[in-house]
Amino acid sequence: MIPFIDLQSQRKRLGQPLEDAILKVVRSGAYIMGPEIAAFEAALAGFGQAPFALSCGSGTEALVLPLMAWGIGPGDAVFCPSFTFAATAEAMPLVGASPVFVDIDPDTFNMDAESLEAAIEAVKREDKLTPCAVIAVDLFGQPADYPAIAEVCARHGLKLIADSAQGFGCTLDGKHPIHWADVTTTSFFPAKPLGCYGDGGAVLSRDEAFHDLLVSLRVHGQAVKGDIAGKTFEHDPKYLNVRIGMNSRMDTIQAAVLLQKLTIFEDEIEARNRVADRYAQEFGDVVRAPAVIAGGVSVWAQYTIETADRDGLAAHLREQGVPSAVYYPIPIHRQDVYSGYPRAPGGLPVTEAKARTVISLPMHPYLSADDQDQVIAAVRAFVGKNG
Ligand SMILES: *Cc1c(COP(=O)(O)O)cnc(C)c1O
Repeated sequence: MIPFIDLQSQRKRLGQPLEDAILKVVRSGAYIMGPEIAAFEAALAGFGQAPFALSCGSGTEALVLPLMAWGIGPGDAVFCPSFTFAATAEAMPLVGASPVFVDIDPDTFNMDAESLEAAIEAVKREDKLTPCAVIAVDLFGQPADYPAIAEVCARHGLKLIADSAQGFGCTLDGKHPIHWADVTTTSFFPAKPLGCYGDGGAVLSRDEAFHDLLVSLRVHGQAVKGDIAGKTFEHDPKYLNVRIGMNSRMDTIQAAVLLQKLTIFEDEIEARNRVADRYAQEFGDVVRAPAVIAGGVSVWAQYTIETADRDGLAAHLREQGVPSAVYYPIPIHRQDVYSGYPRAPGGLPVTEAKARTVISLPMHPYLSADDQDQVIAAVRAFVGKNG
């Protein structure tokens, strides 16, 4: 079986310096908030064109932290797509708020700005929830339609989060999502385009006071610069907890791993795009290649095609030694625990149709031409026969 994602080739490429970096942390004893954390945050902010970057425990917590910082809670509505990983929508109930599900564009699988607008209008008309924020997702690695979504957010006075767990590194007209969004969040789960060797996440932002608030929330609401400036303390203000936060620190070892991986990330994004271009070229008009928004560069977390007989294709590929995966077979609004939350008026027909037809093929920067030929031949043989 050829690998669906190949982390071992990447590990071998990074070689001894990666292992040395891990061992250095082990020997230093600075397991929590060691110097690699600040170094990684600076490097990540630089890469993502953001003034500030905060590392945290996971991509899920990266979504929760800004909602907490804005005081979003019960009675508040946060709009997001349903065609995404559950964590996008889970952040809202975790702070007591309600997700409101929005439909997607049929070509890019990303949030449809018109469905968003209609959902906001409907929530306002109903007058039960207060619209507060929007979470756009860079699904499968490509940037959402930020100019259109940011315009809707600005007009309705809503905060905008770019959930770039799958898309960190993607650009639109050369700009990273933070150009339009108030915050960009990402995940370093190992299988994401930029992954670590465990769990981790980050929040990129543009405003220093907001970033400091995230710093406080990440460590149990501890007092930060703005909380202690001009005051004197009897005790170490380190143990002054001025708001309800949580523990969402990233391990120093993960920052050490990510500092190494960041050095080759740009090159890996290029390699992913070469693989995607080759798929598109070789599939020709037999298989519809995934559409990337005009001006967009995807980091290709997934290469996702559509077929009416998905189970048939998956079984055929398996026989040919080609793995595949379905992201996502059940839209979030169809999952029992999320089925009671509001959705855009008219429902989510595109989301439901896509959930029945999508299938993702092997995609990673180290996919060899021979392995890719095997994938292409297997897909073409099946699609050619079955239309
Ligand atoms: C993976 C993922 C997350 C959650 O990240 P974790 O680090 O696993 O918590 C959030 N949103 C999207 C779109 C994801 O793909």
